[in-house]
Amino acid sequence: MRNIVAGNWKCHKLMNEASAWMADMNDMMANLQGVEVMVAAPAPYLGVLAPLAGRVGLLAQNVGSNPAGAHTGEFTAAMLKSCGVTGSLVGHSERRARFGDTEEAVAAKVDALLGEGLDVIFCCGETLQERQGGRAEDVVFRQLESGVLRLGADVLSKVVVAYEPVWAIGTGQTATSAQAQEMHAAIRGWMSQAWGEEAARNVPVLYGGSCKASNASELFSQRDINGGLIGGASLTPQDFWGVIEGHPSAH
Ligand code: PEP
Repeated sequence: MRNIVAGNWKCHKLMNEASAWMADMNDMMANLQGVEVMVAAPAPYLGVLAPLAGRVGLLAQNVGSNPAGAHTGEFTAAMLKSCGVTGSLVGHSERRARFGDTEEAVAAKVDALLGEGLDVIFCCGETLQERQGGRAEDVVFRQLESGVLRLGADVLSKVVVAYEPVWAIGTGQTATSAQAQEMHAAIRGWMSQAWGEEAARNVPVLYGGSCKASNASELFSQRDINGGLIGGASLTPQDFWGVIEGHPSAH
């Protein structure tokens, strides 16, 4: 099983700050074992960061789904690969809510990444209104169904799922470990139905939503939580290291 702690810088940092973070992070994790560390950096920095990434897996935060062509402002999965990027987030709730990433668009981005052999960190999660309306599992299932459950077993080694309840992202209001585990167990169950139990066990499911050093250890100790996708607490290497150290498999 892959244990992963991935950062998401969103639209933060300037180039020099990003390079310094990469150097500091590599120093801190020089002896780290048991957990893979990744970071999703702003697109303009990816080509510069790739040779500095060292042991940090370098992710994009988004990708275009069209092949190369007349698509001003877009970039392709092949372009990411040519920069040394290892994969991308797809379907982050901020993109779904603010940038028109529909389920169809998200599915096309998944396919574009897999077509280039890149990792897909597939984000899913319900809003507060959906949770309060008792529809959290339906919503997350529907997102997974159109995004990844349709995929064949041959590409599963490239797939990571990140469950991120929208109401917990950037709000300081973390899901309790019981709430998170309950959804992660449901996700594991749907993956088992789609791909069989063993294959489903090997697809990492990360928790995201106001995860930080003080709550990481409890969240990551849950049976079906294999690590985290971390926004605010990934911005400084010190905070991020605190989260990584909270993983029970980190040594
Ligand atoms: C995220 O953006 O994926 C996220 C989990 O953010 P935060 O940790 O800041 O809630």
